Amino acid sequence: MKSFVFLLSILFSLVLHGQSTLIHCGQLIDGKSDKVMDKMTIVVEGNKITSVQKGFMRGPANAKVIDLSNKTVMPGFIDCHVHMENMYNEDAYIERFTLNDADIAFRSTGFAKTTLMAGFTTVRDLGGSGVNTALKKAINKGLVVGPRIVSANKSLAITGGHADPTNGYKKDLMTYPGPSQGVCDSPDECRKAVRQQVKNGADVIKITATGGVLSVARDGKRPQFTEDEVRAIVETAADFGIKVAAHAHGDEGMQRAVIGGVASIEHGTLMSEETMDLMKKHGTYYVPTITAGKSVADSAKIEGFYPSIVVPKALEIGPKIQSTFAKAYKRGVKIAFGTDAGVFPHGLNALEFQYMTEVGMSPMEAIRSATYYAADLVDRLDQVGTIEPGKFADIIASDKNPIEDITTLMNIRFVMKDGKVYKEE
Ligand SMILES: [Zn+2]
Repeated sequence: MKSFVFLLSILFSLVLHGQSTLIHCGQLIDGKSDKVMDKMTIVVEGNKITSVQKGFMRGPANAKVIDLSNKTVMPGFIDCHVHMENMYNEDAYIERFTLNDADIAFRSTGFAKTTLMAGFTTVRDLGGSGVNTALKKAINKGLVVGPRIVSANKSLAITGGHADPTNGYKKDLMTYPGPSQGVCDSPDECRKAVRQQVKNGADVIKITATGGVLSVARDGKRPQFTEDEVRAIVETAADFGIKVAAHAHGDEGMQRAVIGGVASIEHGTLMSEETMDLMKKHGTYYVPTITAGKSVADSAKIEGFYPSIVVPKALEIGPKIQSTFAKAYKRGVKIAFGTDAGVFPHGLNALEFQYMTEVGMSPMEAIRSATYYAADLVDRLDQVGTIEPGKFADIIASDKNPIEDITTLMNIRFVMKDGKVYKEE
């Protein structure tokens, strides 16, 4: 009776939406449950998942069947920290003077495709020049192949802060960037800066709450932004219904950001136990970016790869992130998956799974941090992050069961986004 009703519902929806697709999953990790389910069928109509059934269902004669019976199927992954405009290379600092927006845009289309093919169907871009937001629009219109993008547009910083775009320039190039360029020094300027980013198309606000490794500036960890500035940013963003993400390495800046109400701490390198407890109390997510930490420490050992002012910061801060992550996870801080891709080559995002599980997170929890919890952080849990009826058909698959071998996530074999198949190997 149950399967008869199911068949009827498929026939009915065929009339409504046209062809159904039945995806036969050898194993299914749905992002919601912490169990791996055997032999399941996902029914996709148009760009949505309409049903998830036990066993390999056969639908009406014209239903399309995708056979993933020898694969493990998962919700498309979500990376909560990428930079689609950035390319990992030793000319990155010179490129600010040599590349036009169009150069950056063409290049980013390749990174977008690489990211999608690696199984990441949604990314949160935490800072660029605005090309990131244009890329989002082009992908949404179907002009470019890539993941769904939740864009911060341009990061906000204090004068001389980590995301001040003129750090390290000579005086006549430095000028005086203000709120409209994402640089702000008082609660009032911070409100204006948030409004400008939203006007420019931001879906989330990113602040640099402490110094950073890769900026041409002396300090990599001292606080930047006062608590009242953070509060002004968070409250203004909340008026638009959007969240704030805070880049932070040092503990003081992190505490100001958490108390000020940000939704996530990015990197969190020197996080104290006191801050971890504060994050638990406020429900703040931690987005570790272990891959970036390891990658900058490695690159800093290559002569001339970074400006000399960056090298000691990269060597000091980079290697610490993984152990901070291990402590924060054990203490019960909410974790959302994020890598800082762009600081290392795009498409290697799944390395983060290995680094997370290496120090104690279970493979299932790591996968859920990149699906359910990431969707929660980026406010898209009603659309993505799990395989459930009503969600967008963002579905990926690996050869092996990642619970047994997490490295299989480096070779995603099947990618469907918005009901369309982009990769089938
Ligand atoms: Zn970043």
